[in-house]
Amino acid sequence: MKPGSRSTVPAVALLLLGAACGADPAAEGDRDALGSASRARPKVLVLCVDGASFTVIDELLPQGRLPHLAGLIDRGTRGTLMSADPPKASPVLWGTVFTGADKEAHGILGFTHRVDGNPTIYTSTDRKLPAIWNLVAAEGGTAGVIGPLNTWPAEDLPGYVVTDRLTRTPFGGEIIWTDDLPAMVHPPELLEPLQSVVLQPEQVTREELSALGEFDDAEWKAMQRNPDKPGERHGLLALKMGYATQESVGRIAVHLLETRPQPDLLVVFLELPDRAGHHFWHAYQPELVRGGPSAVHPGWRDRWASVVPQAYALTDAWIGRILERVDEETTVFVVSDHGMRSSGSNGGWPSDLESVVGSGTHAREGVFIAAGPAIRPSGLVDATLWDVAPTVMAALGLPGATQFTGRPQQHVLSADFLRRHPPGPPRDHGVRDVEPVALPDGLDDRYMEQLQAMGYVGVDGVDR
Ligand SMILES: [Zn+2]
Repeated sequence: MKPGSRSTVPAVALLLLGAACGADPAAEGDRDALGSASRARPKVLVLCVDGASFTVIDELLPQGRLPHLAGLIDRGTRGTLMSADPPKASPVLWGTVFTGADKEAHGILGFTHRVDGNPTIYTSTDRKLPAIWNLVAAEGGTAGVIGPLNTWPAEDLPGYVVTDRLTRTPFGGEIIWTDDLPAMVHPPELLEPLQSVVLQPEQVTREELSALGEFDDAEWKAMQRNPDKPGERHGLLALKMGYATQESVGRIAVHLLETRPQPDLLVVFLELPDRAGHHFWHAYQPELVRGGPSAVHPGWRDRWASVVPQAYALTDAWIGRILERVDEETTVFVVSDHGMRSSGSNGGWPSDLESVVGSGTHAREGVFIAAGPAIRPSGLVDATLWDVAPTVMAALGLPGATQFTGRPQQHVLSADFLRRHPPGPPRDHGVRDVEPVALPDGLDDRYMEQLQAMGYVGVDGVDR
């Protein structure tokens, strides 16, 4: 209901509503719908950190290098978030996080699939079930979505959507976004201000990247996109792209929180720990490389040991900037789609920089951290990917959905909060009825290049 519509509700109806709800604070949600007591609606922030692992977090926490994650853990709780077995492609896993359902039910089965014989990146219209942001909207709430995979074209939500393509499509290069293309952001008027906030990989300076580690001239050169080598795949490129994307998402989140009201549910996708973990784990844990530390180039052990830890520190810094700008009564979740561990590879050799790839691989043990009014401090976490969506909905005081395979984390949620915000029985939202989007020619090219550089997709455009 629009705020102005309050005057059309007869005063007696308001009185009756007030009487029926009595002193139950859950009624504040109802009053909120009528345009008052808006502060009573619970707010949730979900920070999606791709590939985050407690292996790294637990090393850095005592060193004071992750102050904002430490703060959340101190006032909230933490535990392992068990991923799928095996924990395969991130889009599949995030699909489960956002819908609470198996991949067969949500329909995102990899990075790419074939459409009319052509490898095509999954889009938001391929998702067969409503995501948590759709569920919140269906319950009359507002949602903000910044950067998760497979969110393009932007869905029409009460709130805003910044799709994964905004940070992965060049504006100054060969593709200029035009009005007739499916929406990169919603509402459309956000496109112009956000374009100027995005950091393109080409704009990343060597100095900025030195926050992660030391890269020599040849390595820096390898980080520059080579248009003559489409489909080039190596970790140096992937790291720079991941850095640019995460910086863009962080800047966009800060911009939106400073210029728009905070939505009831805000989802922000941070990916640098995954990119660093996949390609620089050999320098982080050389002792786990087949053949031991001596199998890793000594210069890299020296200059790149910081890449993985610093990727987490930079991510923590963004988390801090975002937390600074959300209402302090916000319940915050930090979740990863999978953890990370050594693949045993030595990560390549300097004579062939394209061999810098794949020294880290997915682990099933991911990260779950939560804090805020809906959370029981030190509550026991026993969660899988499937439990995230039900727990987020409960933390919003909203009903779950019959599509959920998992359950709300009863020991993580505050009993007092649940008493004040009883979520009610799950609802059947059915499957989505969305027209598949036709992809304009060439639109996927740069995004596909990124997936190839990261090693997720082969030169043929098919999932590896
Ligand atoms: Zn991932």
